[in-house]
Amino acid sequence: MVSRRAVVGAAGGAIGAGAVGAVGYRAWRDREPASPPAQDAEGHLLWRNWSGIEHAYPAQRLAPASEDELSVLLRTAQTPIRPVGAGHSFTGLAVTDGALLSLDRMTGLVAHDATAHRATIWSGTRLAEIGPALAAIGQEMPNLPDINKQSLAGGVSTGTHGTGRQFRALHGQIVKFRIALANGEFKDCSPSDNAELFAAARVGLGAFGVLTQIELQNAPLVRVLKRTWVADLEATLEQWPTLQSAHRNIEFYAVPFTGYAVIISHDPTELPVRPRGQDEDANGLMELKALRDWLGFAPALRRAAAHAAFQDMAPTEAVDEGWKLLSNERPVRFNEMEYHLPLEQQLPVLREVIAAIERHRRDVFFPIEARTIKQDDAWLSPFYGRDCGSVAVHAYYKDDHQFLFDLIEPIFRRHDGRPHWGKLHSLRAQDFTSLYPRFNDAAALRRELDPHGRFLNPHLRRVFLGEEA
Ligand SMILES: Cc1cc2nc3c(=O)[nH]c(=O)nc-3n(C[C@H](O)[C@H](O)[C@H](O)COP(=O)(O)OP(=O)(O)OC[C@H]3O[C@@H](n4cnc5c(N)ncnc54)[C@H](O)[C@@H]3O)c2cc1C
Repeated sequence: MVSRRAVVGAAGGAIGAGAVGAVGYRAWRDREPASPPAQDAEGHLLWRNWSGIEHAYPAQRLAPASEDELSVLLRTAQTPIRPVGAGHSFTGLAVTDGALLSLDRMTGLVAHDATAHRATIWSGTRLAEIGPALAAIGQEMPNLPDINKQSLAGGVSTGTHGTGRQFRALHGQIVKFRIALANGEFKDCSPSDNAELFAAARVGLGAFGVLTQIELQNAPLVRVLKRTWVADLEATLEQWPTLQSAHRNIEFYAVPFTGYAVIISHDPTELPVRPRGQDEDANGLMELKALRDWLGFAPALRRAAAHAAFQDMAPTEAVDEGWKLLSNERPVRFNEMEYHLPLEQQLPVLREVIAAIERHRRDVFFPIEARTIKQDDAWLSPFYGRDCGSVAVHAYYKDDHQFLFDLIEPIFRRHDGRPHWGKLHSLRAQDFTSLYPRFNDAAALRRELDPHGRFLNPHLRRVFLGEEA
């Protein structure tokens, strides 16, 4: 994450050079586990998600190269059929012992409208490829998530978002899409065409059909100044409303056990290009981990060491096109829970989360991320009908993450939070009915379009039918 990178670059760099260095720490880089093999030792197809907590042995892996091919496959594939993007969701959305369906061969720009700044994109395209493709036609997505590895369809299907009071999540930019239904039939959907399906399947979890083409309302390409700085956590919380109005995209990371925050902003600028420097986040995170490993038993010492490291940190700046700055590399794996809260609940929740972690979980070292997202009208959007402030808590992939469910999720739930669909949560249909005003309408439409549940796997049965996975 831009911010996590900053936090870590800042916190980690400082801590590494200061406190941790003082106890003889040598920087090292955590290695991601190798990419999963496409087959296991016995030759069975194997799929695993990014963090490694979900895996599946699909009977078929399907990768159509055209809509015609997709239509045929949908009618004949083994079930459950699960569309998959980059596998970067933390939940079991894509898990299947039937067909794993990838649109990796349906990528690139289909068409664009230079005057209206719109572009139609094959939905298997990764966000990392969309940035340069749009820049070449003078357009950009002005708000991007922390990483750009996701496919466009995978990103919108879970309500993936960036940050900024004036910006909706990625699906809020959709003006039209084409979807292939369980029976192989195609529907073009927009506010005026198949409007109910447009409302339901913009954030559709891959449960309504397979998105093939998505038209986005983009913005004219501009250069932005990215600024990252360290600040006192309490002062940051007090200034948060002002900071939100002062910057186009802004977020911060609260670094637990330190009393500090790292703030990251992006604003349009005419300044000359100053490309971003080398990624140091992974080292920084490992340095925060080292601080946890060595001083975790003594919070006062941990805090003092962090203070020595953070207090003189200089801000960092880069100037470039936004698609080059907004997203980051994340080589250190983690598991994550993020909830979207009514805006006024964000800071009270964040305070409660930090207090709970500092009181009960000295093993946590990942910074806690706070962002804002503008409301929209997609039925299953966590931002349906309300502007949101999000709070995201991470657990290193080798560490226990059960505390996210036992300690953190009850706080989110007490404050009317809605979970990120792609991140850890324990909710079921019964819970969503009260959280989402149009949940029952979405569930009914899903049933009508896929009466035999060809797209339903255990995770989606829990979400839509309330069945225990
Ligand atoms: C390191 C990291 C950083 C992240 N940062 C952010 C962030 O900053 N903001 C944020 O909001 N989220 C973030 N996420 C979460 C991530 O954006 C979402 O989980 C996203 O859905 C992943 O996209 P994907 O292409 O990997 O999709 P997958 O995880 O493969 O699939 C997600 C969903 O999309 C469906 N799907 C895929 N393709 C299609 C299709 N063609 N038609 C219909 N449905 C389809 C799948 O069935 C599934 O339900 C992050 C995740 C990681 C691992």
